[in-house]
Amino acid sequence: MNIILFGPPGAGKGTQAEAIAERESIPTISTGNIIREALKSGSELGLQLKQYMSDGRLVPDEVVIGIIKERIEKADCKNGFILDGFPRTIPQAEALDKMGIRIDKVIEIEVSDDIIINRMSGRRVCEVCGASYHLVNKKPQKDGICDKCNGTLVQREDDHPDTVKNRLKIYREQTKPLEVYYSKQGKLAVIQGDNKSIKETVELVLNALEA
Ligand code: AMP
Repeated sequence: MNIILFGPPGAGKGTQAEAIAERESIPTISTGNIIREALKSGSELGLQLKQYMSDGRLVPDEVVIGIIKERIEKADCKNGFILDGFPRTIPQAEALDKMGIRIDKVIEIEVSDDIIINRMSGRRVCEVCGASYHLVNKKPQKDGICDKCNGTLVQREDDHPDTVKNRLKIYREQTKPLEVYYSKQGKLAVIQGDNKSIKETVELVLNALEA
């Protein structure tokens, strides 16, 4: 099954993607994680993209389209994949269609702005493996330490409040139109994520995949 997950920053897409990946035994492809890895490695791609990320802007379509094309061709995507954070613009969605990649289901997670701003101020990520936590909603077993790899938990530079506001604006302008794009293709399921625990939203997402 080939699945797209989209929603505003802080909607919990990474957690939903992990749950689907586990149940369907397919990989999650997060363009954000791939770009962060490139930044850490100090590669030329990483250096080019650093400023976009820290400002909360989208990186150019042709760059992410290239990243996705290369990743989807790998053998582990043969039985399906979950795209977390791609596409984020109409040209990116059109590029997927042009590549001849069949998408079975698109899940949109809806969360209101004030909840997002609150959630993102408490989000912490592992600087080693990228696992995501929250100071209130998803605490690690030991404060400041990743449960999975013992790495240190830090706040992402693009989770600072001003950057979050900018990311939400960009989301509304450039990503939200995907709702109409995929609804016209009859593939869209919308999940309301406000005031729900992570577990409840995961359950709704998994149900939507069966519908
Ligand atoms: P994420 O971890 O998915 O929130 O992505 C973090 C940042 O990576 C975004 O704010 C963008 O700067 C960049 N990024 C990730 N995916 C995309 C995409 N599909 N298109 C453009 N920029 C992206």
